[in-house]
Amino acid sequence: MYLSKDVAHKFSKMVAAAKKDGVNHFLISSGFREFEEQKALYQDMGDDYALPPGHSEHNLGLALDVGSTETSMYHASEGEWIKENAWKHGFILRYPEDKVDVTGIEYEPWHIRYVGLPHSAIMEKKNFVLEEYLDYLKEKKEISIEVKGVKYTVSYYSFSKNLTINIPENSEYEISGNNINGVIVTVYEK
Ligand SMILES: [Zn+2]
Repeated sequence: MYLSKDVAHKFSKMVAAAKKDGVNHFLISSGFREFEEQKALYQDMGDDYALPPGHSEHNLGLALDVGSTETSMYHASEGEWIKENAWKHGFILRYPEDKVDVTGIEYEPWHIRYVGLPHSAIMEKKNFVLEEYLDYLKEKKEISIEVKGVKYTVSYYSFSKNLTINIPENSEYEISGNNINGVIVTVYEK
């Protein structure tokens, strides 16, 4: 299985935390998928079960399918644990049961995506899926939150040719695209 290095590290940490709670029968059934692999999957499985190449989060290296060696994720304690705790480690359950109308994808208790803190914490607090979070951020322009003693400020900028972003001098920051029309800047204290 291939994953982004950072995501693989975060996932290992999360699994170690689950083990402390007595939940330790995780398996990974899918990580990063090449376009060719996605194409074959799409052709074999059809569009109820797979997305076309370039449209699957598995083509990003940020998503993975997690299972349990005990039973199906619909019933496994691994699934229950992920639902409750993944956000603490920067992961989100990407296609929850109660958000099928928003995501357009059937409930997938196995598919998690790394978005990082504080984003996963904000989404948990507001009960947002990624689509709702991006809309909310775009509307609010700026969100502040404290997670595990670290203060974060998340800002949204619409993308323009001469975009200037000011970053506080003594802070760490991350800049990412929203893959639509803007830039998300996350600033936190060292
Ligand atoms: Zn998946």
